[in-house]
Amino acid sequence: MGNDTNGAVADCDVVVVGAGFAGIYALWKAEQRGLTVRGFERGSEVGGTWYWNAYPGARCDVASYNYAYFFDNEIVREWNWSDVCSNQEEIQRYLSFVAEKCNVTRLITFDTRVEAVSYDAASALWTVQTADGETVVCRYVVLAVGALSEPKAPDIEGVDSFAGEAHFTSSWPRDRVVDMKGKRVGVIGTGSSGVQCVPEIAKVASDVFVFQRTANFVTPTLSGPMDPEVVETMRQDPGAVRKELRSTYGGNQPLYIGPDRFNDLDEAGREKALWHAWEQREVALAFWDSHLPEANAAISEFIRQRMLEVVKDPWTADKLVPWDHPYGGKRPCQSDVYLQTYNQPHVRLIALRETPIEKIVPEGIVTSAETIPLDVIVYATGFDALSGPVRALNITGIDGVSMGDIWADGPVNYLGTMVHGFPNLFLPSSAMSPSVLSNMATLAEQQIDFIFDTIRWLDSNDQAGLHPSSDSQDFWRDETLRFAKRVPGALTTESWYNGANIPGKPRRYMVYRGGFNRYHEACYAELDSGFKGYELLSASAAQ
Ligand code: FAD
Ligand code: NAP
Repeated sequence: MGNDTNGAVADCDVVVVGAGFAGIYALWKAEQRGLTVRGFERGSEVGGTWYWNAYPGARCDVASYNYAYFFDNEIVREWNWSDVCSNQEEIQRYLSFVAEKCNVTRLITFDTRVEAVSYDAASALWTVQTADGETVVCRYVVLAVGALSEPKAPDIEGVDSFAGEAHFTSSWPRDRVVDMKGKRVGVIGTGSSGVQCVPEIAKVASDVFVFQRTANFVTPTLSGPMDPEVVETMRQDPGAVRKELRSTYGGNQPLYIGPDRFNDLDEAGREKALWHAWEQREVALAFWDSHLPEANAAISEFIRQRMLEVVKDPWTADKLVPWDHPYGGKRPCQSDVYLQTYNQPHVRLIALRETPIEKIVPEGIVTSAETIPLDVIVYATGFDALSGPVRALNITGIDGVSMGDIWADGPVNYLGTMVHGFPNLFLPSSAMSPSVLSNMATLAEQQIDFIFDTIRWLDSNDQAGLHPSSDSQDFWRDETLRFAKRVPGALTTESWYNGANIPGKPRRYMVYRGGFNRYHEACYAELDSGFKGYELLSASAAQ
């Protein structure tokens, strides 16, 4: 602490913004490494995603066996998950438990939004400024602001004119139960959040109108009781689980992967493999090489047929099936009850491709065909994902260059964590890491470890800081694109993976699809090489 460079004095070594999976672990890690640290969180409690998305039905779909921390044996051994797909309340309680156990809550200033982060090259220090006007000077900034934390503003005319109650799934009221009993409820959006909340809303509302623009793949969940044997095995050696998670493609251990290659099987063999994987609730992994376009096409068609079988009304069934993109082009959804909900007489699908929303009026939603009177509107309209939470901040680096300008055509970075011209500023969970297409709890641990191993390396090599070279950044942009090209539908589907959900947002595929294992190796290859892909700021140069 009190790092004195060129006359400027740091208030602490590290500032961590955000208190979700990544932020909590970063605060703990900083203290473990003997660094002084402060945290800021705009919410009132820890939890991040699991604090904000308290809508009915919210739960994880990466199995709770793996969607958790593995850095501490006691945490792994003490915590009991009640379901393989734990719900929001339980995951938030878990994160509060971890924060208390690690004694990091005291480090966080809650209800405080960080507004600006600016770098001073002469002192090699950052100034972090909050919306309340507090400033903190530090050496390192960890922007653990999440990938899905900046809600998308509804781009619909008349939103503010609605006379009833309106709520976003992404900032659901936590201080009271939203009373939808006997009410007419409209839900806009059929991504994972819409798919999870519609069945819960349908349990109490008198009428539910689901406004769907693009249909999504919906497959059964992994939900069910935790297998005590699997839990026991994990508890025996959490460190081994942690290591194994990092050696997998998705940062988790799938419950099943088909052993056969698609092209080694005949028609009957493929059908058998698909049914078997379906029964294991891992249909997307029916084949060893499910990523091949021909395997993906077979998987997509198989799921479409299963979806059609569930919904009784043929028009509704047809509209709910995603005919326009392959499985994985958009983020697929999981539910055991969503499609079935449409078999209830008080639930109606409004297919916006046929009858688009024209505007919202005081009494409800006007489509090109009718006015639908409503008491409550639920916006399950998603996020300005991946780059959005970083772009929401005013960040200036060397020579006052603005991150907003650097990212004007889409995010650029190296290894998903650092940007050229912004030394010692770290961006976990943001764009161009395995991110939202991996188990993000595994990612949070891996990225925070890498960040603090980087800081330790700087300190032990007498370096004031580092940032990636622009060549490394170009290389990583090309790598991200190279792997995206291999994924069916990745570049051709309108999706938040590539910015298409936000009007005017530049299109860039923002998820690294080379696999978690390859990503992890690439990070630590840099550390092992003495950060060859980076520009170093020697301690003396900064004085
Ligand atoms: P977050 O949890 O998003 O935390 C970021 C925090 O930063 C937030 O609390 C936010 O308030 C704070 N913040 C942002 N900007 C500022 C600022 N300027 N000033 C102060 N504070 C700020 N991933 C999976 O792997 N498996 C799942 O099953 C899964 N389910 C999900 C379900 C939902 C409903 C959603 C929305 C996402 C889900 N995800 C899932 C992704 C999820 O976001 C990550 O798993 C993980 O929780 C991200 O943790 P994080 O710490 O990186 O970010
Ligand atoms: P999303 O996937 O982006 O879905 C938003 C939905 O709103 C889409 O159906 C979109 O339609 C629709 N929409 C947006 N603007 C609209 C408009 N103006 N008019 C009509 N429809 C509009 O957002 P999300 O459902 O919140 O999920 C985001 C991500 O969070 C997920 O993909 C997942 O990664 C994570 N998540 C995970 C879980 C889980 O099960 N673990 C649960 C919830 C969320 P278009 O598709 O046509 O744009």
